[in-house]
Amino acid sequence: MKKLVVLTVVIMLLFSVAAFGARFDRKETMYITGGLWGPPSNFNPLAPWSAHPGVIGGIYETLYFYDPITDSLSPWLAESGGWTDDDTYKLVLRDNLTWADGTPLTSEDVVYTFTLPGSVDGIHYVGLYEKFESVKAVDEKTVIFDFSDPVYQEWGYQLYQIPILPKHAWENKTPEEMTLGANIDTCMGSGEYMLEDTAQDRIIYIRNDNWWGNEVFGQPKPKRIVCLGVPSNNVILGMMMKGEELDFANSFLPGIPAIKNAYGIHTFYDGEPYMLSANTAFVYINTTRPGLDDPKVRRGMAFAIDPIRIVERVFENMVLPSNTLGFLPIDGWMKYYNEDIANEKGFYYDPEMAKKLFKEAGMKDVNGDGFLELADGSEFKIEIICPYGWTDWMESERIIAEDLRAVGINCEPKFPEYNKYFDDITSGAFDLAVNNTNTKGTSTPWTLYYQIYQDLINGRANNGNYCRVEDPAIKELIDEFNRVPLDDEDKAMEAVSKIEAKFLDTLPAIPLWYNGMWFEANTQIWTNWPSADSDNNLYYPSGWAGEWQQGFLKILINVDLK
Ligand code: MG
Repeated sequence: MKKLVVLTVVIMLLFSVAAFGARFDRKETMYITGGLWGPPSNFNPLAPWSAHPGVIGGIYETLYFYDPITDSLSPWLAESGGWTDDDTYKLVLRDNLTWADGTPLTSEDVVYTFTLPGSVDGIHYVGLYEKFESVKAVDEKTVIFDFSDPVYQEWGYQLYQIPILPKHAWENKTPEEMTLGANIDTCMGSGEYMLEDTAQDRIIYIRNDNWWGNEVFGQPKPKRIVCLGVPSNNVILGMMMKGEELDFANSFLPGIPAIKNAYGIHTFYDGEPYMLSANTAFVYINTTRPGLDDPKVRRGMAFAIDPIRIVERVFENMVLPSNTLGFLPIDGWMKYYNEDIANEKGFYYDPEMAKKLFKEAGMKDVNGDGFLELADGSEFKIEIICPYGWTDWMESERIIAEDLRAVGINCEPKFPEYNKYFDDITSGAFDLAVNNTNTKGTSTPWTLYYQIYQDLINGRANNGNYCRVEDPAIKELIDEFNRVPLDDEDKAMEAVSKIEAKFLDTLPAIPLWYNGMWFEANTQIWTNWPSADSDNNLYYPSGWAGEWQQGFLKILINVDLK
């Protein structure tokens, strides 16, 4: 019986691949991959952590577009917006905005979206909602956000994160449908593309030819986007080399430096580092465990690890080692990188310094087995985890464990299946873990600190706060930074510097390298891909979920047919 089911599924898959593959004119279709990890199941714009690539940005649009390369926030659905006094933000929408069903998109939709957490539980931006005194539509195009607690940094970020919902379609949904529903049959937004179909291994988006933005930004070139779920990076590499059914990939493809020219594969930089930096890989430390609860031990480990060896050996110099604060090398963050604090309190690869710090923490090898025991004489044996199959991280982890063992820390790399890994890091059942959750490039480093230090919910760290630090003083500093207006960079620098100093003094997570903004493109069908050497298409090449409004939307408009 089981075999029959499997066979049926395989036959269905073959049919669907054949049918979809044959149906589309190659010159009207762009095939992409790198962000679909299983059969398509979630098109809910209120679940950004599980919604597929294209749902936010492609179908449901945000008020603003943010480009991390140039650190520029530009109006999208918005025509303009700004603070009219300390507590009031006035937003004006563009003329002639419409939903895909032809209904006008108005200020009522914006009010509905931002006030929804007031009537429906479990909406992720409830924290922002609680900072409003009121949100009111003044006319068809104008919304006044009156804040009781103006959180300028967070607001500047959420302007390009929260997708605007069609009130007329959403007010018929139950709260459960809104927060937990898959939203497949009801997926209707205002964006460049519409959901056309899905199969086990793909999502098919079709261009919205009546998109309001055609007049403003130009019409996107591909009539269809086929978003493929390909289970292995090696398979993606083979597809990219052939180019038959793949134009754009956001995947780590080993060997790209050696083969890219022979196969005409395009990357953002023609030579090293080939890739932009997308997010920061940290070693998160469970600060509640014996030994790991001592900042000296944590700092010692940071001095023991050589990120350059990881970058060279594992990533073939396709990425860069991280700076000491874990700040992405983008203007929006680096303008608040305090060099003095980084130099004074930062870490670098120095095994002798590591040994010195362990000694100061009272550690020594009492039993003569070559590994240090804790100050009270108890055994100190730790594990470092990352998901099985994430080969670049697995290899990195082996190097980290090797470096730690070289200075007397008994550390072993372990590779649980993804679900166990995720459960372990969120429930605190781990020592060290490699992770990059929510460290992506944004308009403010507030997002980095917010995620590292946010509160646990029912004992669980769901969103990047894996180090389990519960320190009201640092949360106070992060809130203080959040309340600094975006144009007051001096005050922001002062506020961020206090957080930076505290972060380096206590080091709950060790920043090591930047994960690449993996981007490989085939040039057989589509050209004019983003490139560091070109001024006319310098867009952030991310087709990952939740990031289309940071670059991909403009890539779709700016590519050309060969
Ligand atoms: Mg020992």
